[in-house]
Amino acid sequence: MSLLTWFDPRTLYGCQCMLAVMFAILFLWMGRAFPSVRGVKSMALAFVLGIPCTFFLMGRGHIPDWLSVIVANLLAATCFLLVYDGILRFVGGRRQLGLLCAISAAALCVVVYFSEIKHDIVPRIVAMGIATATIRAFTAWELLRIAGWKWPGRNDLRARSSASGNESRKVIPMPHVNRSAMRFFGGFLAMLSALGVSRVVLTMIHGAPQDFMQRDSVQISTMLMNVAYIGVYGLCFLTMAGQELILRSQEESEKDALSGVLNRRGIEARLSTELKRCSRSMMKLSIALVDIDHFKRLNDAHGHAAGDAAIRQVAAAIGFSLRDADYLGRYGGDEFLVILPMTACHQAEIATARFRRAVGTLQLGSYPGLTLSVGLTEASPEDDAISLIARADSALYRAKSDGRNCTRSAVPSSTYPVIPITQPVRVQAQS
Ligand code: GH3
Ligand code: MG
Repeated sequence: MSLLTWFDPRTLYGCQCMLAVMFAILFLWMGRAFPSVRGVKSMALAFVLGIPCTFFLMGRGHIPDWLSVIVANLLAATCFLLVYDGILRFVGGRRQLGLLCAISAAALCVVVYFSEIKHDIVPRIVAMGIATATIRAFTAWELLRIAGWKWPGRNDLRARSSASGNESRKVIPMPHVNRSAMRFFGGFLAMLSALGVSRVVLTMIHGAPQDFMQRDSVQISTMLMNVAYIGVYGLCFLTMAGQELILRSQEESEKDALSGVLNRRGIEARLSTELKRCSRSMMKLSIALVDIDHFKRLNDAHGHAAGDAAIRQVAAAIGFSLRDADYLGRYGGDEFLVILPMTACHQAEIATARFRRAVGTLQLGSYPGLTLSVGLTEASPEDDAISLIARADSALYRAKSDGRNCTRSAVPSSTYPVIPITQPVRVQAQS
């Protein structure tokens, strides 16, 4: 307790104000530099409004009450709602803004009544305390729900319901956000919400402080909580938004700008990963090197732009005829690499026949239908990405020498033993 009274209330308000200024500047900049980050505008506005809010709170006793009580509480409630909106927009959670606005409006009515008509601080603190604790609790709940928090006892329920063939495989769509950050943030807000409720209870028992600037332990702990609240809100949003931006730029660096499928770096990375996976699981894996036949003629006859459009159409046609588990990348020029995990060579031939048919039906203006040559191969335990691609390339070379518009396979002497269960083919676009 004596440690708490060591803090100075005005310094703590000053810290709140400094943090609000710092995060307001950061989020305003982020909103301009990365407008696609969801919720950043609400966060920026919340911190901007937080600056006058802390000033009015700090000026209590020196400025009119309507400013330091009514306007300050109105600003504080708006900040809480904006932060709630920003965070849930960012993580793609379900927002209950109508309900929370109604709770905040009711709390503000209590504040106005007990400051202008009846002068009593306790109901004001209780009303605002309940409103802010509710907003924090709603934010915490949604964050923990999205992060897939495992509630005690829930695991058993899951296991039982999946054993009986019901529900429970439902996957909550995850934004590009680290689950640990969301859990930390959600847990912290849940704790703050509980502390807010305890402050309400303490105020009801012991009454309100005589002076808001007094070094009373409840008052100081509330202020410390608010400093921590502002700091953690800002830092967590920054961490989550930063992680999303890094992941997005990683994705962009592996994407082919022309066709929208993976580029060479991206498809090679997937191939190494899949090769490691199949050496662990002993599952079969096939790859197909695909080259458009006589593509130069299309370029020469119809121009480079038509050639580009054809590359995009071919990529889309191949992508649409692959399963979710397969990967498609542009390996270079008019050449594509397809990775077919859990697929033996004879099964891969069926897949290549399907996408060759799909490409054959493409409408390319006056140009006669495009054809593809395909070199297929299956991974052997001795293979690395280079040897596997080299074998697919030699099969492609044979397909070209055999007159094009065909598939040739190069099956190694030893392959992975596990023959996967044939999966139904699902039509899906690759991006
Ligand atoms: P082949 O049947 O032997 O494959 O004949 P081809 O004409 O397709 O020859 P090759 O595959 O060796 O040449 C690919 C051509 O693709 C060369 C280049 O003019 C064209 N090309 C490569 N990249 C692009 C691109 O990004 N856009 C366009 N429009 N054309 C490209
Ligand atoms: Mg070609």
